[in-house]
Amino acid sequence: MKIIVHRGSNQIGGCVTEYENNGWKLFVDYGEQLPGAPTSDKKLEIDGLTCGDTRKSALLITHYHGDHIGKITELPIELPIYMGKIAQEIALHHACRLSGISEKHLKMSERLKNVSTFIAGERFTFGEFSILPIVIDHSAFDAYAFCIEAKGLKVFHTGDFRTHGFRSGKLQTVIEKYINRVDHVVCEATNINRPDATLMPEHELQREFEKAFRENIYNVVYVSSTNIDRLFSLYHAALRAHRPFFVDSYQKQIMDIVAGRDTIWGKSSLYKYNVNQKPRELIEQHYEFVANDKFIDFVTEHGYVLVARQGDRFDNLLSKLPDNDRVKYLSMWNGYLNKRLAAYNPILAKSVGSEYKYMHTSGHCDMTSLDKLISMLRPKAVIPIHTDNPRAFADLFCDKWPVILLNDGESFSAIKETN
Ligand SMILES: [Zn+2]
Ligand SMILES: [Zn+2]
Repeated sequence: MKIIVHRGSNQIGGCVTEYENNGWKLFVDYGEQLPGAPTSDKKLEIDGLTCGDTRKSALLITHYHGDHIGKITELPIELPIYMGKIAQEIALHHACRLSGISEKHLKMSERLKNVSTFIAGERFTFGEFSILPIVIDHSAFDAYAFCIEAKGLKVFHTGDFRTHGFRSGKLQTVIEKYINRVDHVVCEATNINRPDATLMPEHELQREFEKAFRENIYNVVYVSSTNIDRLFSLYHAALRAHRPFFVDSYQKQIMDIVAGRDTIWGKSSLYKYNVNQKPRELIEQHYEFVANDKFIDFVTEHGYVLVARQGDRFDNLLSKLPDNDRVKYLSMWNGYLNKRLAAYNPILAKSVGSEYKYMHTSGHCDMTSLDKLISMLRPKAVIPIHTDNPRAFADLFCDKWPVILLNDGESFSAIKETN
């Protein structure tokens, strides 16, 4: 089996990895590069994916973040794409909402209607490959790692993941039961250069939110609408603090996709609504939120936890709500508010303002957790991707694991030893 990192050997985001065996090609992820990426101008030309014969090719999507899925509309329509079922529904809901205002999202919604979905833990085959999708905890819901096998060779592709989320606890059992030892690990290493990334367990962060909501009557949280675990976490924290929890119809519909699903997640209390106090939906009229007297009286008396997004609609609503001692929370990566970074988002910065509490935890693992995962898989070699410092990764791990550093486009032949 050949492993080729087409992009992502020295950058976070826009990763494309290929597994090739006997002419069959399995690609993993095809997304957008992050702002300021070193190869942002370079259009990928990949035989069997973007050009050439694609009849023996397929694409697996680990999760719905834009840096993993964002460019699939540029691929040939006949190329089979596989992703998780709920991930597809969430991505489709997101694309449909924006399809009226952008051609890009319209195309995305059309493409997403034509992807195939797989089921967690259910092995499927493509050509000479056998693929086992493993649910992994990340800031995107329904995210996967893949155990990819061909000709007796086994590779574990981690995708983006962490071990401090609500759903991380079962990873060790799953690895022991379904994966065991592998030949190679292709892993994300986002946080190698971010030793200061917040790695507080999600349940601890939830307790902090609950405490804050008890102490403060008026609360506004800026969080990504597709960070499902955080949305549900905030909802339950608000319930426990006896604060009404408000989302807009878009966020409510996303929560509804997940709530009470009769799958592995349906068993978790995190994704269940309290029947008497479901998330409250903000009323909208002519693209603006309605803040009538009844609503204002209600929130003045009971307080609120309002999940907000950047932009005028929420800014206008907030200007009408009671705001004495109001607390704003940033519950997403604070790099978006850092003027020195390419990811700086001036619209978000304007909405959040200068007075806010940063309450967030990373969607990616720290290096100790990554080491634990690799130790469980006991590979012959590790290939880091989704990192802006592969050299630091090699320095950190090379005493313990052979680390293979590939440049973009370079291939590595993984051979099964027969002894
Ligand atoms: Zn990513
Ligand atoms: Zn991600």
